[in-house]
Amino acid sequence: MTGAGPWRVRGIGLVTGEPVDLYLSGGTISLDPVPGATDLSTDGFVGPGLVDAHCHVGIGPGSVGVDAATAREQARTERDAGVLLLRDAGVPVDTRFLDDEPGMPRIIRAGRHLALPKRYLRGLGPALDDESQLPDAVAEQARRGDGWVKLVGDWIDRDRGDLAPLWSAEILTEAIARAHAEGARVTAHVFSAEALPDLLDAGIDCIEHGTGLTDTTIAQMARQKVALVPTSINIANFPSIADGADRFPVYAAHMRDLHARWPTTLAAAIEAGIDVYAGTDAGGFVAHGRIVDELDDLAAAGMGTAGALAAGSWRARRWLTGSPEDPLVDGAPADLVVYPADPRTDLAVLRTPSMVVLGGRPQPPGS
Ligand SMILES: [Zn+2]
Repeated sequence: MTGAGPWRVRGIGLVTGEPVDLYLSGGTISLDPVPGATDLSTDGFVGPGLVDAHCHVGIGPGSVGVDAATAREQARTERDAGVLLLRDAGVPVDTRFLDDEPGMPRIIRAGRHLALPKRYLRGLGPALDDESQLPDAVAEQARRGDGWVKLVGDWIDRDRGDLAPLWSAEILTEAIARAHAEGARVTAHVFSAEALPDLLDAGIDCIEHGTGLTDTTIAQMARQKVALVPTSINIANFPSIADGADRFPVYAAHMRDLHARWPTTLAAAIEAGIDVYAGTDAGGFVAHGRIVDELDDLAAAGMGTAGALAAGSWRARRWLTGSPEDPLVDGAPADLVVYPADPRTDLAVLRTPSMVVLGGRPQPPGS
């Protein structure tokens, strides 16, 4: 079935475990019966859709910006995987046109990556000459994005032959304060242990990857309520990154060590009560549409199936948009996914949604 409805969806709500009886009309949810509504689904498990909190619609293989048709295809792939909301963690191209197209997942943007010359993948961010330009650049990206700014916290320093932080503590403090004054939150790509203390002391809101977390920085993140988006399925690429870096043996060994310790590090972060959210890092090194693989990793690392699902769905949505604990309330956008069985006890169910609905309209795969 396709079209604008009105529709009726009944089933078991994933957030509460209670029966739901939702009417979809005019793109929004109504809890009051809507005359003439047709049954869309009567006995599925109904949730608000998955959330990929670290995704790059707009970046393709080779870590380069893609054209509009490819970006649209990437967004469609995420939607067909049940992802209805994603946080774009930095792209070099403008994907705003997708906001006006029906049937596309909602994208919350972080503008472009902010890094120093030769200290990140080439061509993804604006050209900064030195770190003194960071605060102004942060303010500019805050105005470009949808409430987030993305910093590159560390990267290989080829003179040093190892990972190294990009920014001084002083400039980070100033830059993060500028973002907060613009109403934006700040996150940073961080692999090493060394870059974390200055970012956390400067008041950052989220850490991407976090492979270098230690007991000390884990405790600091938990205390300051700094979120973690680990992108475990991309950390699985560390050994191949190391294999390609034989000119930098110290760096290669460092990457292998971070990778070897990763299961313990992630388990400790979860155990400490850090707010962990699911992100795939789809774009250059990871294919789009793999959110369930990340949820499997989070579940195995200690979150359990129900905890991992919440971290990749309604909890992440609340973190990113301020939505209620159960987003499927009267007047909310009619965005939901129906599953044939209960994914809270079996995440594999997430791989075959019965139905994806955006803006009150069922979205057949590939449409
Ligand atoms: Zn990324």
